[in-house]
Amino acid sequence: MSRNKFIPVAEPDLRGNEKKYITECLSSSWISSKGKFIDRFEADFANFIGTKHAVSTSNGTTALHLALLVLGLGEGDEVIVPDLTFIASANTVTYTGAKPVFVDVESKTWNIDVKQVKEKITKKTKAIMPVHLYGHPANMEELSRLARKYNLLVIEDAAEAHGALVKTGGVWKRAGSVGRVGCFSFYGNKIITTGEGGMVTTDNPELANKMRILRDHGQNPKKRYYHDVIGFNYRMTNMQAAIGVAQFERIGDILKKKLEVAYMYNKLLSNIPGLTLPPCEEWAKSVYWMYSVLIDSPFPKSRDEMIQILAKENIETRPFFHPLHTMPPYLNRKKFPVTDYLSQKGMNLPSSTRLIEQDIKKVAQIFRKYST
Ligand SMILES: *Cc1c(COP(=O)(O)O)cnc(C)c1O
Repeated sequence: MSRNKFIPVAEPDLRGNEKKYITECLSSSWISSKGKFIDRFEADFANFIGTKHAVSTSNGTTALHLALLVLGLGEGDEVIVPDLTFIASANTVTYTGAKPVFVDVESKTWNIDVKQVKEKITKKTKAIMPVHLYGHPANMEELSRLARKYNLLVIEDAAEAHGALVKTGGVWKRAGSVGRVGCFSFYGNKIITTGEGGMVTTDNPELANKMRILRDHGQNPKKRYYHDVIGFNYRMTNMQAAIGVAQFERIGDILKKKLEVAYMYNKLLSNIPGLTLPPCEEWAKSVYWMYSVLIDSPFPKSRDEMIQILAKENIETRPFFHPLHTMPPYLNRKKFPVTDYLSQKGMNLPSSTRLIEQDIKKVAQIFRKYST
């Protein structure tokens, strides 16, 4: 077996005040879902994304579910979702009783194809859920225009794009601040983590209020144990938020390191026939959550062969998501050629902020070695 150092595809970077703040929770006994770190994390995050409100949740999936619920989505409604995304984007629509309607992605950005969104709009369509895949924003300018024209809600799945920027109406905005709501995940491999955790960002105070009530069993904030509606327990704990606050203190460094990793790969992997580097539109600033490439002829090895070759060197990678229309709960005979293509040819390379230059050089050298 290989004795090479293990290079993970992602790993949490907990080199700040995480331990200190967790210890504060333990010694003060504020370990549940009340406490100062929750308020601080929500305030910090709203400020960073550029929205008036941010509502923390137990994970990114509950953030999406909560957002869809307060927007009133349910049975009989359709929500347009890209075919290439993590399953939670579609599942949370299904949880509400609404139907996810898949749209192919564009080969340029790997994100939802705005032109095809238009063709999928029916009388039942209530919302669009763009996903900023692997950290590169979807085309929010065109999507917003379309949403206005057809009176549709926009729910941004920004689970992979904390800090990404997208130009809309000539102004640079953070991903998650353009649509009616933005949803984030703080799972262990995300840009910043709380172990498990999520957040919904919005400018709308009523939506934020409703989400706070719904995440707390629908309990009336002024009347204890009085429940006006059926809610959920989707709360974040003070301990999760403590990690979040510590992570957030270093988000600038983390994002900078992500860019450095991406630039280094871009340089070392340039001009390899058959290798496509990640999207980079002039109206977008990706955070390169996962540095990803496509492998196709004339590159002599397939994507799956490269995953094996790298694994033998103790380098972890990931294939792209499967097209959602090929998953058993969502089987669908319609054609999604771009998603099918990307899903077969795409892979995520090690993208951790803890990578050192040597690690990236090693990955790149292997691609070079097998490129001829
Ligand atoms: C991670 C992720 C989610 C779900 O977040 P969890 O915190 O794992 O529940 C949703 N959508 C996308 C695109 C994701 O990458």
